[in-house]
Amino acid sequence: MRGLIAFGPVPSRRLGRSLGINNIPAKICSYSCAYCQVGRTVQMSAERRPYYPPQQIFSEVAEKVAMAKSQGLSIDYLTFVPDGEPTLDINLGEEIERLRSLGIKMAVISNASLIWNEGVREDLFKADWVSVKVDSLQESTWRRIDRPHSSLRLETILEGIRDFARDYEGVLATESMLLAGINDDQASLQAIGEFLEGIDPDVSYVSAPIRPPAESWVQMPSPERLCQAYQIFDQRVKRVELLAGYEGDSFDLTGDTREDILAIASVHPMREAALRGFLDKSAGGWAIIEDLVERKELLRIEYQGNVFYLRRPKRERIK
Ligand code: SF4
Repeated sequence: MRGLIAFGPVPSRRLGRSLGINNIPAKICSYSCAYCQVGRTVQMSAERRPYYPPQQIFSEVAEKVAMAKSQGLSIDYLTFVPDGEPTLDINLGEEIERLRSLGIKMAVISNASLIWNEGVREDLFKADWVSVKVDSLQESTWRRIDRPHSSLRLETILEGIRDFARDYEGVLATESMLLAGINDDQASLQAIGEFLEGIDPDVSYVSAPIRPPAESWVQMPSPERLCQAYQIFDQRVKRVELLAGYEGDSFDLTGDTREDILAIASVHPMREAALRGFLDKSAGGWAIIEDLVERKELLRIEYQGNVFYLRRPKRERIK
């Protein structure tokens, strides 16, 4: 069917303007994550196979790119982000190679469940930006959250991520989804943080289930827990960002102090000292912060003797 493979470009917090590529029919996945925003997995699979002919993927994406260009829209990344797991597509590497001729950088957002497979790693090496999922270091918790295909083992996947990270020359991102009461405790966060330190990603995203999840028991972690996760990871990796409900915002400084503070504090909990420094350069003064806290737009959180300000995480409503 035409028209379902390429979508966008859409603004993406991680990738600027991203044109999405849906290279797997909905919803075939190796996981059935309790927090999945596209519902329970219809077809569980951990076996690679062809789905669409690579030529079809290429022509539909090329058509979308041409359409976007004719409308004056720029595209920063072509992103494999299907409603399923993109590495299940055995032609992924060939598709990336064909799409290279369009002269746009390529990204793959993967759950990493098949990354122990050398062929999967070879395919991912061809992308400029790869995100891998690291939700838990504990087998039982991983099973509870990600609900993997019965043939998968966490230790094998973690080993595959280590192998991939060691040899990959592009931008490596990780994403960890935190669920209240499941993997947002100190010990779980420390374990994830230590693993991340070992693979040294360029950026680690801390996510929260801001969209309606597959299972109703899934709950958002508290802002305190999100802040704690940020601090624990921040001590171990180059860059940490929160993905907690403000995907579409622009993070360019606008000159409007209030807006700029909210934009920054939705991604990075700001230390009070840094915030005071920021305000010194602007006209508003500390009263802006007091007002934002009063309106509950900004949260004041104490952690390990420091005070941080974080934008209140926002759960999206069902449209
Ligand atoms: S890996 Fe992604 S697509 Fe698959 S179930 Fe989990 S969140 Fe959904």
